[in-house]
Amino acid sequence: MTLTRRNLLRGSLKAVGAAAGVTAGAGLLSSVAGERSLIGSSFAAAPSAAVQTAGVYRFTVGTLEVTALLDGYFDADPSLVPEFDRQVVDQLYQAQFRDLPGEKVRIGVNCFVINTGDKLVLVDSGTADKYGPTMGRLPENLRAAGIAPESIDAILITHMHIDHISGISSIDGKALFPNAELIVHKADWDYWHDDGAMAKVSKTMQDISLHSRAMALPYKKRLTLIEKDGEILPGIEAMALPGHTPGHTGFLLRSAGQEVLIWGDVIHFTALQFARPDWRVVFDTDMDQAEQTRRRMLDRVAADRVAVLGSHLDFPGLGHVAREGDNFRYIPSTWQYQV
Ligand SMILES: [Zn+2]
Repeated sequence: MTLTRRNLLRGSLKAVGAAAGVTAGAGLLSSVAGERSLIGSSFAAAPSAAVQTAGVYRFTVGTLEVTALLDGYFDADPSLVPEFDRQVVDQLYQAQFRDLPGEKVRIGVNCFVINTGDKLVLVDSGTADKYGPTMGRLPENLRAAGIAPESIDAILITHMHIDHISGISSIDGKALFPNAELIVHKADWDYWHDDGAMAKVSKTMQDISLHSRAMALPYKKRLTLIEKDGEILPGIEAMALPGHTPGHTGFLLRSAGQEVLIWGDVIHFTALQFARPDWRVVFDTDMDQAEQTRRRMLDRVAADRVAVLGSHLDFPGLGHVAREGDNFRYIPSTWQYQV
């Protein structure tokens, strides 16, 4: 008996193996491969793409159009989180049907472009080449989204950390968004430019400070500092969320009765900190204040059912928060079919 596709489908694996005179799986596979050559290209193997598709996702908030752009990911050492408990981490990952992390925990980095109708506004700019080859994808994802850097009118920076400000300038001091004004909270600007404050912090933080200053410098003549909460651009309101840095700022998008809060780094670990908002990160300038801000915002967006958009929430970083006992649960948003 000849092995054909028909009897392969009709018979059981064992029966087909016996009919073909083979018992081992490998023999069966080679028989099927032999048949493939008889029926030509309909079974042609396709090489694996081995790369993810473009990190671009578009949705609307009223009349505002938002494009989420992935800058990439990095693997964070657990020592970044003083409260890190491996058993709890494994339980939370298992409960969310996630592959257990290895020794390090993966964090994505997202940026956003908001089209207000008459302005294109970039929110944060990723890491450029500061965190290795898995990061720095903002320029290629901007291209994939059809957004030219020259068309960006304003850059909002949630805070002046490396993974948020590194993409705005080249290392030789050229503005990569040549027509954009830079908008950042005054408290953050002052803190990272304060030589006295920097003399008291670690060498790492001093390096971050120097780097942030260098990135911001090309925009010094077109700089706006946010001094209080409220509307800064049509449909975009600044909201101070201090703790992670002194001037860490959220941006509330509000249009035609819809709201989304861009909350920057309120959460760093999507799988962990909704269930454990008491878990802090050592890069918080004030860890206690950061935790208070996190709890306050989680409470508020859960009660008001406001969607959140996060720099480090799993791409595209959009979802809702539900209360669960004393803590919270994250519900990622589903695909928006129309924009
Ligand atoms: Zn960050």
